[in-house]
Amino acid sequence: MGIIAMKFGGSSDAAGFRRVRRIVERQGGRVYVVLSAPGKRHPNDFKMTDLLCRAHGGDGGALGEIHLRFSEIARALGLGDANGWLAELDASIARSAGWAASRGEWVCARMFARYCGMPFVDAAKLIHFDAAGRLLREPTQRVGTAVLEHTYARLLRRLKPLKNAVIPGFYGATAQGEIRTFPRGGSDITGALLGAALSAKRYENWTDVDGLLSADPTVCTRAIHHEAVSYRQMRQLSLAGARVLHPD
Ligand code: ASP
Repeated sequence: MGIIAMKFGGSSDAAGFRRVRRIVERQGGRVYVVLSAPGKRHPNDFKMTDLLCRAHGGDGGALGEIHLRFSEIARALGLGDANGWLAELDASIARSAGWAASRGEWVCARMFARYCGMPFVDAAKLIHFDAAGRLLREPTQRVGTAVLEHTYARLLRRLKPLKNAVIPGFYGATAQGEIRTFPRGGSDITGALLGAALSAKRYENWTDVDGLLSADPTVCTRAIHHEAVSYRQMRQLSLAGARVLHPD
């Protein structure tokens, strides 16, 4: 049975965690799971990453909200309290903007790993950024393949011996151990990197909406589902604003 890399967004509450666990367990075999931070539970809600950025800027209310949300999830899942992880978060929130922004994925993946009894592997040890904070070619950047090759080699070395693992999305680290993040929504990039590095049979990108639509359904009520798209079409759709998959 081949390797499957899976990235999940939308695990914003305990029900989301339960859903993700069911999907992962149904898959069985060699599954590597990438998680993003909790997102919005309703239109007026805040994304965890935004709360963390505000907390890094000194917003005590945002920090309180972060505690509340993670504690609620931990309690509902029977993980006891999330105090240990949250104390670590409090102590380090001022460290750097990248560090703070990445902690939503970090806590989320730690909690999910414990909930499923799977090993947690920190993305800081897997995803390598150069000193300028680059990993990939981006529209405005051209990077040699060396940086990316380094990431692939680490992913292979550290993950191949494990039957499965939970990895936080969205961030990595420089050789000096400084945390760097991808652009927003970048946990998709982590998932795709895992799939490529491990020569996975399949990369699955799960979101909290069903399928891929031809247009934004809040604007165009006649949007239709795409049954299948090519990589090129997917990239064009993402660049045009389809949010289900990051263009990179
Ligand atoms: N949590 C990050 C964001 O809100 C990354 C992600 O969700 O993929 O952009």
